[in-house]
Amino acid sequence: LEVIRAVEPRVADAIGAELTDQRESLKLIASENYASPATLLAMGNWFSDKYAEGTVGRRFYAGCQNVDTVEALAAEHARELFGASHAYVQPHSGIDANLVAFWAVLADRVESPALKKAQVRQVNDLTEADWFALRRELGNQRMLGMSLDAGGHLTHGFRPNISGKMFDQRSYGTDPATGLIDYDKVAEAAREFKPLILVAGYSAYPRKVNFRIMREIADSVGATFMVDMAHFAGLVAGKVFTGDFDPVPHAHIVTTTTHKSLRGPRGGMVLCGPELADQVDRGCPMVLGGPLPHVMAAKAVALAEARRPDFADYAQRIVDNAQALAEGLTRRGAKLVTGGTDNHLVLIDVSGYGLTGRQAEQALLDSGIVTNRNAVPQDPNGAWYTSGIRIGTPALTTRGLGTAQMDETAELIHTVLSQTTPGESKAKYVLDAALADKVSKQASELLTGFP
Ligand code: PLP
Repeated sequence: LEVIRAVEPRVADAIGAELTDQRESLKLIASENYASPATLLAMGNWFSDKYAEGTVGRRFYAGCQNVDTVEALAAEHARELFGASHAYVQPHSGIDANLVAFWAVLADRVESPALKKAQVRQVNDLTEADWFALRRELGNQRMLGMSLDAGGHLTHGFRPNISGKMFDQRSYGTDPATGLIDYDKVAEAAREFKPLILVAGYSAYPRKVNFRIMREIADSVGATFMVDMAHFAGLVAGKVFTGDFDPVPHAHIVTTTTHKSLRGPRGGMVLCGPELADQVDRGCPMVLGGPLPHVMAAKAVALAEARRPDFADYAQRIVDNAQALAEGLTRRGAKLVTGGTDNHLVLIDVSGYGLTGRQAEQALLDSGIVTNRNAVPQDPNGAWYTSGIRIGTPALTTRGLGTAQMDETAELIHTVLSQTTPGESKAKYVLDAALADKVSKQASELLTGFP
């Protein structure tokens, strides 16, 4: 920090303050974790200065032998860990991984003479009419994914994201009575809409998805089946999700982030079989710029960590903790979407406390509990104010907290939510400052045994 302080002290201060915040507050954001020191250090070094467009052994720049080493290692660890035949570890984020996957599928599936010419690098031979046809054909493809309010992600075809502009999109939701995916309804939607790509995966669905059934649905309409396992990759890596719930044997293509339950650096990854491997490897320069060699080095370290036996134990404890938290909340009267959890996250419907998600999120933050607001299915408050609070256990499990501490955490969350009253707008609320302060101290004390 002193080296940074000598150049821009405010950055050094912000880094120090972030460390304090992350040490002292209950970090319950479902998409966050604490990467290991080895992972962090692998990211902060001279690899950051290197350009390496291309793939291992086939670069557009000289001097990439060390980048080749770390990229090959990261891919090897990913293949071994997930049992995939091909891994592409260059995507800079989950969004990038999804874009690479979409373009790989489009390039593979869309019957377009112009596209084929572009693929075999005869780009200069394309006429204006070819380009026009290419844009029209690519712009008319269909995607079916989980709806945002049921827990899907923006990149699964929603308007604010490029995926919603690239594709003609429809969604499947969850059953209003149970909150669960209704596979018959997904099959019906697939039959009606005939998507090119069927997407499974979520950011806020607290249950397992049966990928065998989803693949059968995709096959029945000739769709490519893609799974975005960004949130639960750690549970797949740790063999908590196996059989029908492991996406890798069932999907044509799997994308993920590396920084959530997988506990690596911020980044993305694509896994696939040999049929799509060549298209996926064209991610740079099709969708991505130069890879981030320092992040690929950190991916190699984190993936090596995830291959150790203790990671399986970690993954199981993530789920045990989420279930203990769900149970503790339910016992105290909280209303949970689907009534509980099978994975790393719990979605509280805070309308049961008379609050919006925005009010609840801020009241919890004032009390040293960091969560995020999230829409619930058929949310009357929309995506900005919402009616939900999403909480996840990967980060606190990394620190070593167990089921007993989850019950105490449930008590703190319930205390704050039940003592908060709504204010005059959907963002305003009233919470006694002394109570917020007391809960903050309790949260910080809860963490002292878990440095
Ligand atoms: N896919 C899913 C399911 C996600 O939950 C997220 C992020 O929250 C992403 C993709 C995007 O990841 P990133 O923020 O790294 O682009």
